[in-house]
Amino acid sequence: DFARTSGESFVICNEEHKNSQEKYLSLMSDLREELSQGHVKFAFQPKLNLQTGDVFGAEALIRWISPKHGFVPPDEFITMAEQTGDIKHLTSWALGQIIEQVGKWKKEFPEFLVAVNLSTRDLQNENLPDLLRMITREFEVAPERICLEVTESAVMGDMKRALKILNELADMGFYLSIDDYGTGYSSLAYIKKLPVHELKIDKAFVLNLATSPEDQILVQSTIDLAHNLGMKVTAEGVEDEQSLALLKQYGCDCAQGYFISRPVFVSEFEDFCRDQK
Ligand code: C2E
Ligand code: MG
Ligand code: MG
Ligand code: MG
Repeated sequence: DFARTSGESFVICNEEHKNSQEKYLSLMSDLREELSQGHVKFAFQPKLNLQTGDVFGAEALIRWISPKHGFVPPDEFITMAEQTGDIKHLTSWALGQIIEQVGKWKKEFPEFLVAVNLSTRDLQNENLPDLLRMITREFEVAPERICLEVTESAVMGDMKRALKILNELADMGFYLSIDDYGTGYSSLAYIKKLPVHELKIDKAFVLNLATSPEDQILVQSTIDLAHNLGMKVTAEGVEDEQSLALLKQYGCDCAQGYFISRPVFVSEFEDFCRDQK
């Protein structure tokens, strides 16, 4: 009574999984169709430099607002796309869309660093560096302007292959970040072996920072450790002023969260950045 992945295909072991597999495939075919009709877009959530107080960039977050299914949470359809193999196409499309947008911002916001989420399977795709080389050249965007967010578990999977790809991306100049840090099983000592520049503390440790002494200790010591290992730290999920103040006090480098801004579409994001200036 289980389903497992084998290469590109999903092995079906019982009737229930067969049905959910069919559901996945039909949702993925809707996704492909609606993507081509313009129903998939990116929202941008500002990233704040806690030392200077400036917005210096954003994280791009995918949004599928389906005429047929309504709002589909990214966690859900990304997981499905990984299982059906659709993620490959989705990621290359996403990279094209986001990097094209960064190219458009070059004049007004030349120093922007924009973060893109990669999924587990992307880190097993040895063509990823070439794909990124092609796209950044096409839109004349320097790799230094793009942050690639990967999760701990994506790296821990096939570590050797992931490491080869990450090293190549780092050599090309991309800024690399470990997303959702603290939710996986890796130790910071292990992460130090990776060519990553930044650690993103998962929102689970940040959401209740102001009232949780335990989270305060965890966040504070993670920041210190990361700094001692030469990495920058971003905290995600900052929802109140007090948490923001604590993070600043702890020496955290960057913050992201509803208190600063929700993820918003391009024109609202641009307005937000212009207001900040
Ligand atoms: P993530 O990369 O860890 O993104 C952070 C999530 O936290 C986002 O959820 C964001 O909207 C949410 N968030 C930001 N600030 C706050 C806050 O103050 N409070 C709370 N409660 N939440 C906050 P979202 O947009 O639903 O994305 C969920 C996950 O889906 C992302 O987690 C990422 O793993 C994945 N994802 C999103 N866009 C993409 C994409 O383009 N490609 C891939 N492969 N994955 C994506
Ligand atoms: Mg992320
Ligand atoms: Mg995260
Ligand atoms: Mg997450």
